[in-house]
Amino acid sequence: MILSKKISVVVPCFNESDGIREFYKVITSVIENKYNYEIIVVDDGSKDHTLKIIRELAQEDNHIKYISFSRNFGHQNAVKAGLDHASGDAVISLDADLQHPPQLIPQLIDKWQEGYEVVYTIREEHESISLMKKMTSRFFYKISNSLSETKVEPGAADFRLLDRKVVDAIKQMPENYLFLRGIIAWVGFKQYAIKYKANERFAGESKYTFNKMVKFASTGITSFSTKPLKISIYLGTAFALLAFAFAIYALIIYAFTDNAIQGWASIVIGIMFFSGINLLMLGIIGEYLGKMFIENKRRPNYIVGETNIDGSR
Ligand code: UDP
Ligand code: MG
Repeated sequence: MILSKKISVVVPCFNESDGIREFYKVITSVIENKYNYEIIVVDDGSKDHTLKIIRELAQEDNHIKYISFSRNFGHQNAVKAGLDHASGDAVISLDADLQHPPQLIPQLIDKWQEGYEVVYTIREEHESISLMKKMTSRFFYKISNSLSETKVEPGAADFRLLDRKVVDAIKQMPENYLFLRGIIAWVGFKQYAIKYKANERFAGESKYTFNKMVKFASTGITSFSTKPLKISIYLGTAFALLAFAFAIYALIIYAFTDNAIQGWASIVIGIMFFSGINLLMLGIIGEYLGKMFIENKRRPNYIVGETNIDGSR
């Protein structure tokens, strides 16, 4: 029996021409004849033949809807575009490289049917994930969760099911710097986590370059916490106290010994230290100021160059 409710599957794609057909085959075999569904493929400004292949797929199969960006706007914005255009009662987002096993989808849907409004997945650590990825991911969650009141579970992946209510809530958020994992943790609702083992990438290389990862982490932290701005208060106080103690020490040397005047080193060290802290804090403030500057422009998160979706819901 086919589930009468509609499921939208959102797939962000950036230069995935080698894997997208295989992805289509696998996902279709998992959901066809079981659900009433659409697959929204978001081409995030790919430079290879991804769009061409997506167009072909859309011709062959009318479950396929696509949105193609005018340039690369990043994975998070691609997922957001999918949410914006999805018409389903539940929306599932997952990667196009088969690292998020589509076989898990029926499980996500079952949990949704039980009444959970967000069913998200947690990547279990195992050998096939590179050490670099494991370390950076752990480090990121440690820092981010210690700074922010919105806690994101370590390993949380962008593979999740959202109920229509949650999608509508997220659609209302106008922020340019998207960190969906944080937003999901922030919106609340009844949530359920499923653990999974990530597969190897089916084809091609990771599209998350080191640069993109750093940007992603910085957005994750600075979009959900203003605590870094307060670091200056703690640092300033700590070092003021230290400087005060040092002054007393210098006075004692001056008053009770003959070793005074050798102060050059301490002055230089002091100047270097404090200008370092100044620069650090200016950098943090600049980071927030820059974000406010961009947010103030109220630019859209992405620009659609081509699509086969008429109107969105
Ligand atoms: N992706 C995207 N835009 C980007 C980078 C990645 O739409 O700028 C897509 C990519 O095609 C894939 C998903 O986001 O479907 C996750 O990317 P990837 O597998 O390269 O990241 P990793 O799994 O290595 O973290
Ligand atoms: Mg991947």
